[in-house]
Amino acid sequence: MRDINHKLAFDHDGKAQRYSDVFDPNNGGVQARVALGDAALLDRAVEAAKKAQPAWAAVNPPRRARVMFNFKALVEKHMDELAHLLSSEHGKVVADAKGDIQRGLEVIEFCCGIPHVLKGEFTQGAGPGIDVYSFRQPIGIGAGITPFNFPGMIPLWMSGVAIATGNAFILKPSERDPSVPVRLAELFLEAGLPEGILQVVHGDKEMVDAILDHPDIGAISFVGSSDIAHYVYRRGVDNGKRVQAMGGAKNHGIVMPDADLDQVVNDLSGAAFGSAGERCMALSVVVPVGEKTAIALREKMIPAIEGLRVGVSTDPEAHYGPVVTAAHKAKIESYIQMGVDEGAELVVDGRGFTLQGHEEGFFVGPTLFDHVKPTMRSYREEIFGPVLQMVRADSFEDALTLPSQHQYGNGVAIFTRNGHAAREFAARVDIGMVGINVPIPVPVAYHSFGGWKRSAFGDTNQHGMEGVKFWTKVKTVTQRWPDGGVGDAANAFVIPTMG
Ligand code: NAD
Repeated sequence: MRDINHKLAFDHDGKAQRYSDVFDPNNGGVQARVALGDAALLDRAVEAAKKAQPAWAAVNPPRRARVMFNFKALVEKHMDELAHLLSSEHGKVVADAKGDIQRGLEVIEFCCGIPHVLKGEFTQGAGPGIDVYSFRQPIGIGAGITPFNFPGMIPLWMSGVAIATGNAFILKPSERDPSVPVRLAELFLEAGLPEGILQVVHGDKEMVDAILDHPDIGAISFVGSSDIAHYVYRRGVDNGKRVQAMGGAKNHGIVMPDADLDQVVNDLSGAAFGSAGERCMALSVVVPVGEKTAIALREKMIPAIEGLRVGVSTDPEAHYGPVVTAAHKAKIESYIQMGVDEGAELVVDGRGFTLQGHEEGFFVGPTLFDHVKPTMRSYREEIFGPVLQMVRADSFEDALTLPSQHQYGNGVAIFTRNGHAAREFAARVDIGMVGINVPIPVPVAYHSFGGWKRSAFGDTNQHGMEGVKFWTKVKTVTQRWPDGGVGDAANAFVIPTMG
């Protein structure tokens, strides 16, 4: 049995008190076990980070950027190896695994420009003989806690910006697919990153709690499900830390009567079922506007869904692979049953799907519900599987209300040829990321990623300038170089103004 260990700056005997199984979702077997760390291990990682961080922060920004350039080249060189490793633990198809890593690399490309981004602000002559300047300094030690569904991209969202801005960073990846984060940390070392600046600790709640309570960790970035995001946010903030915590989602795709339905069906199929629906930006709800749109869309959607090829993650023809664990498969199937019990119409049933030769794999067939109602629990909650729910709307206003009133506010898309409707929708919808004829509107790396409502706790997004703000604090200096005169003594007791 292969053991997956922490990646630390110090010698570690590799033994753990507890381990967690890492499955092969294609076959259902256990392929490795990952060591679960504890507070004592975290203490040692923090000590190593404390030793290394001041020197790293003192490295000038272009030299820090050079490590990012080297890292990017190394990841590109190892892309095939990384994508296969990712796909073997997560279950997403290899081409999609490459996309996972590529989206993370785009944040590294943004970090290659960190010298430009870290230029401060300066006001000459803010008062008589007075200049004011502001600049950003690293927090010190930051931590990231990441979900299973993007084991390449999300660790890079956080670690790239945290490290480029001069912090030491401790990553606690998902224990369900921990190998790619370890490999990325190894490649960072090869790229010239000093030991101790990026360390990977594995674990579950015990390790997360240790991170949340550690007095020397100044900032925590979390991505995962909403209840845990909220918990991490509360406990981290209570402990005086800066916290951003991204949560779950239920993303709607609004289909206006004038939309190009062939394009919609194509886009929806990928956005709802790609990566077996295990994406926080998956379009899991489709909202046709008007009865005619609903009937036409349903007619085209059924054959498209039935034509999807579910296969092992290494099958180049497969549209999507297995879900991550047997427990997750059972959860998805229980939501499908819930939808049936609540009275939604199950049009295509993906339960009980088996792949010949891989009968124990964690596969779920594509599933379509129609006549889903906003009051249903299976609509209000996130399913996170290959399940598309159709909620019919009578009008544009009804369609706008659905995502706006949902507890989650991550992403939304509108499909239309009407520029005015699209513009109106983007302005009024109560959601953080909007696509106009773009089904998965994940912003590019130099913009920033973040949802609203229960999809994100805290007030800064991931990557782009928002990420830079999160991982740094502003220092503002007001300076005067007196010419030798003592100034007006009476005025020394009055709050200074620049008047
Ligand atoms: P999860 O919440 O189960 O796990 C996320 C992290 O929290 C993992 O590192 C895990 O070890 C840790 N964790 C699990 N249980 C914990 C507990 N009780 N206390 C403390 N820590 C705990 O999420 P997941 O299943 O790995 O990922 C899927 C979820 O992540 C979905 O809800 C998805 O929508 C969400 N997600 C959100 C975004 C976003 O940016 N909004 C992006 C990707 C995924």
